[in-house]
Amino acid sequence: MKIAFFSTQAYDKQFFTAHNALYQFELVFFEAALSLETVELIQGVDAVCVFVNDKVDAAVLKALTLKGVKVVALRCAGFNNVDLEAAKANQISVCRVPAYSPASVAEHAVAMILTLNRKTNKAYNRVREQNFSLVGLLGFNLKDKKVAVIGTGKIGAAFARIMLGFGCEVHAFDLMVDEALEKAGVNYQPLLSVIQDADIISLHCPLNEQTKHIVNQDFLAHTKKGVMLINTSRGGLIDTKAAIEGLKTGHIGYLGIDVYEQEEKLFFRDLSSEIILDDVIQRLMSFPNVFISAHQAFFTKEAMDQIATTTLENLTHLLGDKKIDEQALQHDPSILVR
Ligand code: NAD
Repeated sequence: MKIAFFSTQAYDKQFFTAHNALYQFELVFFEAALSLETVELIQGVDAVCVFVNDKVDAAVLKALTLKGVKVVALRCAGFNNVDLEAAKANQISVCRVPAYSPASVAEHAVAMILTLNRKTNKAYNRVREQNFSLVGLLGFNLKDKKVAVIGTGKIGAAFARIMLGFGCEVHAFDLMVDEALEKAGVNYQPLLSVIQDADIISLHCPLNEQTKHIVNQDFLAHTKKGVMLINTSRGGLIDTKAAIEGLKTGHIGYLGIDVYEQEEKLFFRDLSSEIILDDVIQRLMSFPNVFISAHQAFFTKEAMDQIATTTLENLTHLLGDKKIDEQALQHDPSILVR
């Protein structure tokens, strides 16, 4: 069985090749993103493996069917970039990695909070230049601060537990209450109550029609002046233009984003010698209280190991090499379309 990987980096090749010793698929790696043009690169392929910014829309799915592809395997949790209805119509199965390491993303969100608050990035550079001044490095204690968690699934729950450990008051909004989290001390409330007193708001819900631009002008109007906003989920959750206005007026005190609405043209590449034409990210990068990382929250050794094993396991099931427990598969959150 042959699998073609799109949007690959050296580390994808390293982890997948190592774990594939157990599965013995034939793997081919392309740096290019999957698109109508790059579908042409594949020959005799049974499945394609894609990442967060590969656009798997109806036209691409149709082209994949014509090439004989039977499975689209996402090597990530979010699946907002795949047209699941079109996959069904084209009889292409779709799978993902629903939980590879919630701690990896939750811990990165905390790293962003600590960096923005204590300005450790600035301190690191200052001391290396023999500038031992503390002016401009004033932070605040996290203890007793109010933290709002939007979406308390696997990552949001892990994040909430870490913040409880810091001694924060943790409030949450989700469509479903996690009783274990409630018992641990998290206070569930309606969205507006959760955000109105929060010192820190961290987004952990998926991107879908209901959550697109959940953080907009109206949302921000309900938040406290100087609020810290953290997004490690998906760029489309924030209306970036509204966030820029909030930063300009000082209403948003700090912004930490690991994801960005237009990231597919930028992230996962070295563009240090290029002219960046995206004026929105250029404006964001100009604020001293904005910390952007390039979709790296998932990027730990543990997560990469889990992503590789779950993806290869999913492919083994869907390509039919292993005896399938149909009942178990129906409840398997890895399988989105079958
Ligand atoms: P999950 O499915 O376990 O949890 C999502 C939670 O959001 C669920 O509890 C769900 O009920 C809740 N939710 C859904 N709609 C909501 C709404 N309108 N308002 C509030 N809550 C809502 O997912 P997860 O594993 O915790 O991942 C969360 C998101 O993190 C993913 O969708 C993905 O986009 C993102 N992610 C980012 C990275 C990264 O590297 N930056 C890595 C993995 C996942």
